[in-house]
Amino acid sequence: MAIIFDDKKSINDLLKKPEIHPGSFASLYKRHNAGLTLVSHDMEQEKREQEELAKIYETRSERKKKLLFDNLDLIFRHKDEILETPRYANIDVHYAIKAGGCYIGPISTSKYYHFAGTLVNINLKLGTLLELWENEQFKISCKCGGMAVIHYFSGSPLSGASIAAAICPKCKEIIHNIRNRGFGNYTGLLLTKLYANTEKVAKSITAKWKLAESEYEKKVAERKAPIWYGMGAEFHGDGESCNLETMINELKLKEFDQQQ
Ligand SMILES: [Zn+2]
Repeated sequence: MAIIFDDKKSINDLLKKPEIHPGSFASLYKRHNAGLTLVSHDMEQEKREQEELAKIYETRSERKKKLLFDNLDLIFRHKDEILETPRYANIDVHYAIKAGGCYIGPISTSKYYHFAGTLVNINLKLGTLLELWENEQFKISCKCGGMAVIHYFSGSPLSGASIAAAICPKCKEIIHNIRNRGFGNYTGLLLTKLYANTEKVAKSITAKWKLAESEYEKKVAERKAPIWYGMGAEFHGDGESCNLETMINELKLKEFDQQQ
């Protein structure tokens, strides 16, 4: 490896902070007269609206989290049914787990990806969460006799020290200060589940696209394709979307009907 010294610049050049408004006063004046600024009003408006949306999203997540935790007993009673029903198992519950640690920061249960300028959001799913809670690491006995599930943990990847909190589906009590069950054990299990969650979405999209390609080729070969036809016309989602509110209502109605 060679170390190259660049002596064309002095240390003062390297330490100089970048100018807030690059360019001369003359060009700034010209831009100003043309009504152009480096950050336009439209850009500021977009930023404000994005911030407002983020606030609404946060409030909504808090409401959903409360709803989920208030109905954990109902959800556990129907666990097998939820896991077997894709429209239930795939419900976004990214707000259910808060986790993070020293040096590594928060562990995100909601991931954003850009593909060709298109935003794809992959969130922790209800089915994945229920599978995570099957691990002994994420369970603790409650004094009421119920089995509480861990919804928060933090700690240090260096010392392995950890602190966690759990909620009991039966008595709704929050158990604080669950100490030293190994930060790595929590993180390892959560990350494994989150990667499996991402894989599930990616595989589903890939499978739907492969299907679109084969449908397209079939129609073209049969000369059944109209002039505007393209592979994109055969690309469809799975059409099995549901939200937490609807699922809880459906499960409650089901239990009510069974009691009659
Ligand atoms: Zn309890």
